[in-house]
Amino acid sequence: MSSLHLDGIQGRYDAVVIGSGLAGLTGANCLAKLGHRVLLLEHHHQLGGLATWFKRPGGHTFDISLHGFPHGMIKSCRKYWTPAIASAIHQLKDVRFVNPEFQIQTTFDRQDFTRLLTETFKVPEIRVEAFFEHLRGMNYYDRDTRTTGELFEEFFPARPDVHRLLLEPIAYANGSTLADPAITFGIVFSNFMSKGVFIFQGGTDTLIAQMTAELLANGVEIRRSCLVEKIYLENGPDGLPHTRGVRVKSTRDGGTRDIACTAVLSNANIKNTVLRLAAGDPLPADLLDEARAVRVNNSSAQVYMGIRDGMDIPRIGDLVFTSEAARFSSGELVDLHTTSRTHSVYYPDTRPHTRTPRYAIVTSINQRWQDWDGMDAATYAQNKARITEEAFSGLEKHIPDIRSRVDWVEAASPRTIERYTRHWEGASFGTKFEGLKVSLELPKHAPGLFHAGSVGIIMSGWLGAINYGVITAAKMDAFLTSNTAPG
Ligand SMILES: Cc1cc2nc3c(=O)[nH]c(=O)nc-3n(C[C@H](O)[C@H](O)[C@H](O)COP(=O)(O)OP(=O)(O)OC[C@H]3O[C@@H](n4cnc5c(N)ncnc54)[C@H](O)[C@@H]3O)c2cc1C
Repeated sequence: MSSLHLDGIQGRYDAVVIGSGLAGLTGANCLAKLGHRVLLLEHHHQLGGLATWFKRPGGHTFDISLHGFPHGMIKSCRKYWTPAIASAIHQLKDVRFVNPEFQIQTTFDRQDFTRLLTETFKVPEIRVEAFFEHLRGMNYYDRDTRTTGELFEEFFPARPDVHRLLLEPIAYANGSTLADPAITFGIVFSNFMSKGVFIFQGGTDTLIAQMTAELLANGVEIRRSCLVEKIYLENGPDGLPHTRGVRVKSTRDGGTRDIACTAVLSNANIKNTVLRLAAGDPLPADLLDEARAVRVNNSSAQVYMGIRDGMDIPRIGDLVFTSEAARFSSGELVDLHTTSRTHSVYYPDTRPHTRTPRYAIVTSINQRWQDWDGMDAATYAQNKARITEEAFSGLEKHIPDIRSRVDWVEAASPRTIERYTRHWEGASFGTKFEGLKVSLELPKHAPGLFHAGSVGIIMSGWLGAINYGVITAAKMDAFLTSNTAPG
C-alpha cells in the first residue's frame, strides 16, 4: 500500500535501526559517523523511547525516566554524542530514604555510604571496605552464580536494614531483586558509588532535541510514526538466515513499504525482536526456545504532579525513596498495593531555560504487568485514582499542603509503557540476566541482525542503553565493512 508519509525513504540502506531509545539513537549515530547509510524508524511520534517526556496545559513538562544515572554518562555522552550534551550533566546531591527502619540523607557515593554504613548502621569499617572492594572486582566473565541476596548475607549477615539501603534504590534504577545474579546489582551500584547520581539539566526534551540535531547532521534518515512490522531474514548459501530488510508501516496513513538493508539494529525488546518481528523467519529452534524462556523485568506506574505556575515547594530532596513496609522485600516492592514509592522532585534548576521557575514531582512505583494487564476499564480507572491518592498522601508527610499547590495530576501504568514503547509486558528495564546472552548471540544465528537496548539488567538504564548502543554499533561496523558491496 502506498503512503505519502513514507515518501522519500530510499529502497536500500546499510543499516536500519528499529526504535529510538537511547541504545537505538546512539547506535544510529555511531554507525552514521562511521560512514554507513542509516535509516532510523520509530513507531511513536516522538524520539527517545523511555527517555521521554510529555507536556500538559499550564506549562507543565513531565520527564518519565530522568531520575538519575551514574557519572559515566558524562564520558559516554562526550565521546559518542557532543560536548554540549556532556556538559549539561549535573549531580543530584540530595538523595533521601524515609522508611520504618531509617531516615537518611546522602549524596549516594562511596564516601558518604561508608560514613552511613559505619556511623549510622554501625557496620565495622573493615567490612564496608571489603564489600566495596569485592564489588570493584566483580566481572561479567566470572560467571559467579551467587545472588544479590547471598552477597548481602555474606557481607552483612542478618542486616535487612542494610540490604534495604543497598538494594531499594537499585531496584528503581534497573529492576533488580534479591534473587537476581549479584553481578546485576554489583555493576550498577558500583557505577553510582563512583561519584553519585546525575541528571541532564535542561530536561529530556532538550537532550533528545540535541541528539536529533546531531543525528541529522551526521546524515541519519529519521522517520517517526513508523512501525516496523517485520524483519526479513532469508537463508543464505551457508544455511543461516541472513538479514535482507524490513517492512515498515506508517501509523499515520497505514501505508507500508519494504526496505532492503544489509544489517538491522533492533532496539525493540529482545523478545519482540526474535518472537514477533522475526516471526516466521527461518531462525533456529534453540534460539527461539531461549528467547521464549527469557524473563522480562518488572514494569512501572507513575503519578505526575505539576506545581501551579508562580508557586513553589520546599526542598525535600531530589530523589526521595519512601516505603511504609516494616522490612524490605523484592516482592513487596512490585506488589499492586506496594507502599514503596520514589518521589523525583524537579526544581527550577532542572529546566533553567523556562520563562518562570517550574516545579514538578514524579512519583514512581515498580509494578507487575500481570496485575494491570487484565483490569477492566472501571478497575483500571480505580487503580489509577488509588495510586494518585497514595502519592498525594505520601507527599503530604513532606509537603503538608501539596494538594493545593498542584494544578495538574495524572497517572500512568504498565499499560501506558507497553502502548508507547511496545515493550513485552510493559517492561521498564528490559529483561532478566538471561536476555543478555540471546541479545549478544543474535548475529551468530542470523547474520546482520543485531540487538541493542535494555537487556540482562546490566545493559539497562540510560548509561547501560547508551553503552550497549556503542558496543553493538562497533560490531555492526565490522559486519558491514566485510559485507557491503563496493560502490
Ligand atoms: C518509570 C521509569 C523510570 C526509569 N528511571 C530511570 C532512571 O532514573 N535512570 C536510568 O538510567 N534509567 C531509568 N529507566 C530505564 C531507562 O529509561 C531505560 O533503560 C532506557 O531508556 C531504555 O533505552 P533502550 O535503548 O533500551 O530503549 P527504549 O527506551 O526501551 O526504546 C525502545 C524504542 O523502540 C521503539 N520500538 C519498539 N518496537 C518498535 C517497532 N516495531 N518499530 C519501531 N519502533 C519500535 C519504541 O517505541 C521505543 O522508542 C526508567 C524506566 C522507567 C520506565
